[in-house]
Amino acid sequence: MRVDVFTIFPALVDGFCAESLLGRARAAGLVDLRCHDLRAHTTDVHRTVDDSPFGGGAGMVMKPEPIFASVEAAAPPRPLLLLGPGGTRFDQSIARTLAAMPGFSLLCGRYEGVDHRVREHLVDGEISIGDYVLAGGEVAACVVIEAVARLLPGVMGNETSADEESFGADELLEHPQYTRPATFRGWDAPEVLRSGDHGRISRWQHAQALHRTLQARPDLVERRGGVTEAERATLAETDPVAYPFSFPPKRQEPHAP
Ligand code: SAH
Repeated sequence: MRVDVFTIFPALVDGFCAESLLGRARAAGLVDLRCHDLRAHTTDVHRTVDDSPFGGGAGMVMKPEPIFASVEAAAPPRPLLLLGPGGTRFDQSIARTLAAMPGFSLLCGRYEGVDHRVREHLVDGEISIGDYVLAGGEVAACVVIEAVARLLPGVMGNETSADEESFGADELLEHPQYTRPATFRGWDAPEVLRSGDHGRISRWQHAQALHRTLQARPDLVERRGGVTEAERATLAETDPVAYPFSFPPKRQEPHAP
């Protein structure tokens, strides 16, 4: 898969994507990541990429010329997606859509964002990684690249399946996991997981995933069409594992006088 990134900080994206899973995927030739410096396509001695907004207002706006010139010179794979807080919310389903393509490209804004003509005449869409404002699109680009790359065949190794984790095939959050030691500071890992009974283990894990999702993300349960009769039975026979904290803490109900 080829991924092109357009940014004024190519080293940020390139450095993040040089380590760990992405670094290995690149070394193995599974991901061909090309980071383009928008300043390489400026024409003045100061290598200016921004200017003050027409109509006034705070901050600076990224000029269209270096962005169009960079993209046209690179002829990157499409879709070319702008990163911005006003875009479509990035999620696992968009990650899967991108992972099925031969390539895609990302454009990182800085300052107050990009000249609107970039949206109108250059990019194919806009993606947000969440309802908050970053100082630039580079971290968002890394989020998208990592979420997509780990879905590519060969990147994660065979032992893990993206179907069996949060936002996977059953559209539930993942069940809780434990590893050795079986008893840590007096806290036991659930006996069922050490029973060797695979049927019981998978029923328990499915019930915990349901409990967890009903509690933390009822919207996900609704989206998958609720809970089946069989699942209702599984839920009833399995006590939920505790998730003892919430952040931010839930407001205490005022005590009755
Ligand atoms: N003035 C803009 C925010 C600009 S933030 C506004 O009010 O909408 C500067 C750049 O950071 C953006 O151009 C975008 O590329 C990136 N960015 C900020 N928040 C982001 C988010 N939630 N998702 C993706 N990119 C984001």
